[in-house]
Amino acid sequence: MVMTVKGFVDKKDMGKTLVHEHILVDFSPAEEQIKIDDNLRNEIVEIMLPYLMEIKNLGYSTFFECTPKYVGRDVKVLKILSEKTGLNVITNTGFYGAGEDKHVPKKYWNLSSEDFAKMWIEEWEKGIEDGIKPGFIKTAVNPGPLNEIDKKLIRASAFTHLETGLTVACHTGEERCALEVARIFEEEKVDLSALIIVHADAIENFEVHLELLEKGAFLEYDSIGARPMEYHLNLMEKVIKEGFIDRILISHDAGWFTVGKSKEEQNIRPYTDISYKFIPKLEEKGISEEIVEKLLVNNPSEAFDIRVRKR
Ligand SMILES: [Zn+2]
Repeated sequence: MVMTVKGFVDKKDMGKTLVHEHILVDFSPAEEQIKIDDNLRNEIVEIMLPYLMEIKNLGYSTFFECTPKYVGRDVKVLKILSEKTGLNVITNTGFYGAGEDKHVPKKYWNLSSEDFAKMWIEEWEKGIEDGIKPGFIKTAVNPGPLNEIDKKLIRASAFTHLETGLTVACHTGEERCALEVARIFEEEKVDLSALIIVHADAIENFEVHLELLEKGAFLEYDSIGARPMEYHLNLMEKVIKEGFIDRILISHDAGWFTVGKSKEEQNIRPYTDISYKFIPKLEEKGISEEIVEKLLVNNPSEAFDIRVRKR
């Protein structure tokens, strides 16, 4: 099963899925997050609705919104957009440590991993707001070696997984932090199939991709369209050759409404390069429809299925 902002959905009904996108983001520090009132909420809905309708019309059914709490998460916006589009929209629990931990409230910096996990488990058990529950855990770390706060966040995400079965998607971006995150999961006896290495396409050394894949983690190549298509096609050919295509997730990391900017200042990237540019290129390369189906349907439903994965 997966948990959407409207409740449980059978993983078999997820259909075509985008695993890492954003509807709204607020880059201000945790203490200065802008309050989203009904007026602003309506403005966000009005601006973002056409982008979501566009992917709905391209045959997508499921959309993972990867904006954590204190980076602008607003589950009411997501629920309205889910109702208006008919898309399954999934939100998250967890804290975002990247950006020098400015999205983790300073009053929490001395908490223990257990304390962090307790807050996130509570969101799962009691709901975030209006009974809306998270469908995965999103965390983020600064480039390695991991600082003390980031280590605690990662351990907390492992604890929360063991308690809830929610998959952990961790923003990385370079090899040292990605490997250290994987190591902490191993120490906490969590099977690495419960871990998605977000922004794995930013890890330059392909040997590290293989090392993480061999450990069982999912790799997210989520900057499709933000780099030359050849870059991702090349990565795709390499993982197919190595036999790891079942462990690869793709997305755009696109969108979004930036909270704090006016309507006119918004600069939104649509969620469409996979459909319009990437898949045609895969087909040109002779990559089968079956593989495309894995990338967009089977792999996401396997990765985000809610179940405890112990080592
Ligand atoms: Zn993102």
